[in-house]
Amino acid sequence: MTDEKIDILSLTNEKLKAFITDDFQEKPFHAKQIFTWLHQRNCTSFDEMTDLSKNLRESLKDKAAISTLKVLRKQVSKLDGTRKYLFELADGNTIESVFMQYEYGASVCVSTEVGCDMGCSFCASTVGGKVRELTAGEMLSQVYEIEKDSGIRISHVVLMGMGEPLNNLENVLDFIEILTDKNGKNLSERNITISTSGIVPKIKELADKELQITLALSLHASTQGAREKLMPVAKKYSLDETIDAMRYYFEKTGRRVSFEYALIKGENDTDSDVENIYRLLHGINCHLNLIPVNPARGDAFTAPDRQATELFQKKLEKMGINVTIRRALGRDIDGACGELRRKVMN
Ligand code: SAH
Repeated sequence: MTDEKIDILSLTNEKLKAFITDDFQEKPFHAKQIFTWLHQRNCTSFDEMTDLSKNLRESLKDKAAISTLKVLRKQVSKLDGTRKYLFELADGNTIESVFMQYEYGASVCVSTEVGCDMGCSFCASTVGGKVRELTAGEMLSQVYEIEKDSGIRISHVVLMGMGEPLNNLENVLDFIEILTDKNGKNLSERNITISTSGIVPKIKELADKELQITLALSLHASTQGAREKLMPVAKKYSLDETIDAMRYYFEKTGRRVSFEYALIKGENDTDSDVENIYRLLHGINCHLNLIPVNPARGDAFTAPDRQATELFQKKLEKMGINVTIRRALGRDIDGACGELRRKVMN
């Protein structure tokens, strides 16, 4: 996309209305027509917008562009039908998205940045750092392209792909506004989950928006010291203030919060971890998701076996914590964040 052109896919209904009335001196109802073409019908060229005058279509082409993604690679799991996509952006950068089917519907795991600068020691997305943030349109295109490719309506979106969504909050909020617009895909806010490594001021900022989306915190350790070892962000925001921010999110939104805990053998899977997790989370309206760590960064991190994982879960359950073990989808297709991209880049 050329720099001067407006990235029209990233404009919320309101912003599109302002663009059409200010820049083109056209009636606002054209904005609604264009919005519907872009976000309900997955349209990728102005020529297809047949209910607009030829004049308006031509001037739109001059001033605006519709960003599209190119599928570079697609891997379909033979085990569970999970699909992993490697997309190329207009500037040549690459990102990953994952399509998963559940009993309750179809879900897309969306990337929010090219790369990531959080530096978590077990995660492949952060190797090589962050290149740039994604636009709202680039996040939407991941959902739309996958919907087109799979032929299945997407009902759920999780922001758990590459990147730290709360470091790109402005674009993420536009993405959510467009995705939940009744003239677009009309997704329910309740079907959208943001996962964060724990950027405390941004968690509070998001809470103050009082949206009905689910917020998940990547906890991954049960003490301040252990968390600092795995996640550099823990040095900036203490575990206590991070948990407090999650409590604040619940108070403001009434939405039960989630905690993700990647189980790593010999690192964070002991009985004292069980005790510490209980101390941190009891009394919070929350759900804990145990994820057997995926050895995306080599052999340094391995998951405890199934039996040990289930025992860990049972102990927490007995203490009254609401806990599940995440079903591992796409194990045969580099399912974990950033794995496919790294493989292709190397
Ligand atoms: N930056 C955000 C969202 C992206 S990652 C965050 O940190 O939450 C989505 C989830 O996958 C996070 O909980 C992340 O910690 C986890 N994850 C990353 N690499 C993993 C691995 N190798 N095994 C298991 N979980 C992993």
